[in-house]
Amino acid sequence: MDKLLAPGVWQIDTLLGGWEEVNSVFLIEADQPCLVETGPQLDSDRVIEGLSRHGLGADDLAWIVLTHIHLDHAGAVGEIAQRFPQAKVVCHPKGLRHLADPTRLIAASAQVYGARLDSLYGRMTPVDPDRLVAAEDGGVIALGRGQELTLVYSPGHAKHHIGVLEADSGVLLVGDAVGVKLPGAGPLRPATPPDDFDLELAVGSLHKFLELRPQQLILTHFGSAGEPEEVLREAEDQLRTWATIAKDAYLEQPEIDHIEEALLQRLGSSEGGDPDRQPAADTLNGFRSNAAGLFGWLERQRRSLLEVP
Ligand SMILES: [Zn+2]
Repeated sequence: MDKLLAPGVWQIDTLLGGWEEVNSVFLIEADQPCLVETGPQLDSDRVIEGLSRHGLGADDLAWIVLTHIHLDHAGAVGEIAQRFPQAKVVCHPKGLRHLADPTRLIAASAQVYGARLDSLYGRMTPVDPDRLVAAEDGGVIALGRGQELTLVYSPGHAKHHIGVLEADSGVLLVGDAVGVKLPGAGPLRPATPPDDFDLELAVGSLHKFLELRPQQLILTHFGSAGEPEEVLREAEDQLRTWATIAKDAYLEQPEIDHIEEALLQRLGSSEGGDPDRQPAADTLNGFRSNAAGLFGWLERQRRSLLEVP
């Protein structure tokens, strides 16, 4: 259930929806241990058990770092912060106010997730504002004895997204910025959900990751997708392909349904993964939510073109 990625760097499966190898959190063992991602609220007990398995008592966890505040990555932050009262919670400045008061985040998530909000993810318990720390691009979190994490702004999937590089091992935790590739579920698929997906920002983030020359590139959904440079180039190709299909469909008929149909028609059959894995892949990162995010991006582009004098 727990996978050792590099010395002291563990990937822990949250078993989202009872599925294996779909969603994860990461423990960096150190003088000041750090948890990256919390999983959703409904998986909080399993994540806390996972940390106990690695010997962390209530006062031992020093840091909780969120790659972004989507509920599958951050929904359990309130429960985990309560269980580990010494831990500081780090996320992008644009995410902080939502952690202190998740009302709007939950309302927006309910629109995207529908019934899955309560059946699969849960909601979010607020975090005491005194415990929140704003991530800075290139900022370093010192874990003691010279061990460091570097935070890398990586917008595109969401405007409040950061990657986390563990300097000693060269493990780069990329959240959702590179896409989703579940073992056995077919090729890497871009993750372009509403409300902030932006193609050029997303590609810029992939280039930023390339420059870091990571030893390993680890997706939250789920694990290594292969040799980092190849994965990053494949991710850019895939993103551009999806965006082109979406744009062509949008120009024919600017509707989410039409974009979804075009994506399914062009890409649905090329998936080639194990059919048993498709429900998890579609639930987590389906054509519908990606079509909706691409639609929002195309609408914003159209509006900004109209505003040019
Ligand atoms: Zn996300």
